[in-house]
Amino acid sequence: MAAFVLHVRTPAGPPRNWTRAQVQSFARKCPSAVDTRRVTVRMNGTVHAEHDGPSLTPPLPRKRIRVAILGGGISGLMCATELVRQANEQNALDMDVEVFDTGVHNVGGRASSRAVTVKGASMVVDHAAQFFTVSHGNRRLQAYVDEWKRLGVLREWGEAAVVSLSNGKRSDASLHCAPPYYIGTRGIGAISSALSQKLNIRRPAWVSVMQRDEDAAGAWKLFRNRHKAKEGAAMGVYDAVVIAHNGKCADRLVGTAHIPHIQRFLRTLFTCSAREEKNSKMQMSSLWSVLVAFEQPVAADFEGAFIPDCPALAWVSNNSKKLLQPLHEDGDAGTGGVAECWTLLSTPAFATKFKVPQEAVPDETAAIVVKELLSAFERALARAPGSLTPCFVRAQLWGAAVPLNYLAEERCIWDGAVKVGVCGDWLGQQASMESAAMSGIELADTIMRDFSRAGGPREERGLRAKFVLPRANTALGGFPRAPIDTEEEVLPARRRV
Ligand SMILES: Cc1cc2nc3c(=O)[nH]c(=O)nc-3n(C[C@H](O)[C@H](O)[C@H](O)COP(=O)(O)OP(=O)(O)OC[C@H]3O[C@@H](n4cnc5c(N)ncnc54)[C@H](O)[C@@H]3O)c2cc1C
Repeated sequence: MAAFVLHVRTPAGPPRNWTRAQVQSFARKCPSAVDTRRVTVRMNGTVHAEHDGPSLTPPLPRKRIRVAILGGGISGLMCATELVRQANEQNALDMDVEVFDTGVHNVGGRASSRAVTVKGASMVVDHAAQFFTVSHGNRRLQAYVDEWKRLGVLREWGEAAVVSLSNGKRSDASLHCAPPYYIGTRGIGAISSALSQKLNIRRPAWVSVMQRDEDAAGAWKLFRNRHKAKEGAAMGVYDAVVIAHNGKCADRLVGTAHIPHIQRFLRTLFTCSAREEKNSKMQMSSLWSVLVAFEQPVAADFEGAFIPDCPALAWVSNNSKKLLQPLHEDGDAGTGGVAECWTLLSTPAFATKFKVPQEAVPDETAAIVVKELLSAFERALARAPGSLTPCFVRAQLWGAAVPLNYLAEERCIWDGAVKVGVCGDWLGQQASMESAAMSGIELADTIMRDFSRAGGPREERGLRAKFVLPRANTALGGFPRAPIDTEEEVLPARRRV
């Protein structure tokens, strides 16, 4: 066989002669830069060497595509699940998917549950997302829900269990959000836990720097922090990165990657009500979540209630009843003497009024927040002030709680040229678990299409989309929310550029 030598002009340094083995090794590292049939080497978009001789034999082994998903909330977990499922089903791509999440106790983000011990009794509580709904006609998510139901991960929350409550008067809750309501059998976090069991999860893991890998064109290196980046101690090298979280963290992280056309979507304005902005930015509200446990039952004949017209309190739910956690099995006060543990969720306006750094909530602020929300709960039940006396309280501020505006017409962002995508609940018209899940699923579809293409233009989604405000009848930004139209109506023409 004739000697194979390819004369390659590299961007840095003098021209070099590459042997067949060197070309093959380079092609394995960055397959999109080498056409092995004609033997063409491209760097930074420029053809640096061409050879019209015989193609390189034997054919190159199939490359494993490494995808990092930064965020183990519902959007990130659904994106990972779909990537793994589609790669297995199509058998067209070898794909390694890793999910990084900061969660110390579990994955799930805002759709996680928490275990608390109250006076020696342990119980699960839903401290953020309470239930979720699936829009009529959303067959893809419904198929997951049916499977989770079959596996006992979730169940339908009886319609009668959820009401609307105002000054002691209860009315139909479906005015606020259309049933069926789905809840996790062991808390809403059961869904994320079920998803995570089939995935490769790295937790707790905080990714705060992403940089191009200089050794492998097109790849990304992830680092825990700037210090580790300087040392070169990467958490891994990936062909594609998905940002599945939002708020200041996401903005800072993407800032280190020098991709301003994607970073612009992650700049966040914190506010309590959506407003028209000249420079369209993501707008997010905060919410307080307060846990209160009582030694005596509250004696309410509902399990969850919307509190309309209250400036402070938006929602209450009895975790003990909802999650079937009878703490009085022996008929009396039971271990620790705790009867019920409730979650009280504030309105965005209340959270803005009492906004503090969420990592260091001052005790005085927490005490005021608990007092105010408890008083609002008493008013909603038409009880005397001071009649509810909890034996346990815990206040938590969700700083980046609910998006107030959304990206028009797009469910996800993807730039195939840099192989970076974004998914999350703000890429849909409801600030909800459903939006987050669908965003992750659609991003997975897009990534699969991109990597399945042999050549031609890369996939691109959402890069030109703009933030818009919700329509007047959608109470976006203060979950629970008003019912919205079906998927088909709200997302008319999804563009694939
Ligand atoms: C108090 C409250 C109540 C709600 N109630 C409901 C409800 O009843 N029904 C409903 O449908 N929706 C509800 N929502 C909204 C719903 O919870 C969210 O829309 C949905 O869970 C968002 O999912 P996500 O994947 O987009 O983001 P997230 O859940 O925020 O997930 C992002 C994940 O990324 C991780 N992360 C962040 N930074 C990094 C990093 N640098 N590296 C690695 N990981 C990182 C976070 O820890 C988190 O786990 C509620 C929200 C709040 C705050």
